[in-house]
Amino acid sequence: MNTLPSPTQPTRIEPFSPTEISIAWNDGAEFTVPYREVRFYCPCASCVDEHTGQRVIKKETIPLDIRPKDVRTVGRYAVQITWSDRHATGIYHYETLRKICEQAGRRAA
Ligand SMILES: [Zn+2]
Repeated sequence: MNTLPSPTQPTRIEPFSPTEISIAWNDGAEFTVPYREVRFYCPCASCVDEHTGQRVIKKETIPLDIRPKDVRTVGRYAVQITWSDRHATGIYHYETLRKICEQAGRRAA
């Protein structure tokens, strides 16, 4: 699968509160998103069925105190998040991350 570099990129990703992350984008948009939502929308093959697009992960199985242990950029197009539940296979393309922001986040700016 070819993914063209997305022109919309996060400029800042940092903790906002004990339960939310703050993500600012290069188009000026800024969102706060609950960690649980970001974890829930993990795009990896064990969280979402590759063929049907069905979400395999159940929200109620995600710990209430879930938080990222590590966030690192992958190339110029994605971030990889290591979660406190030891899940680390999710590579969030910027496009996906932005969708999560818009669907599950609260717009701050
Ligand atoms: Zn996953």
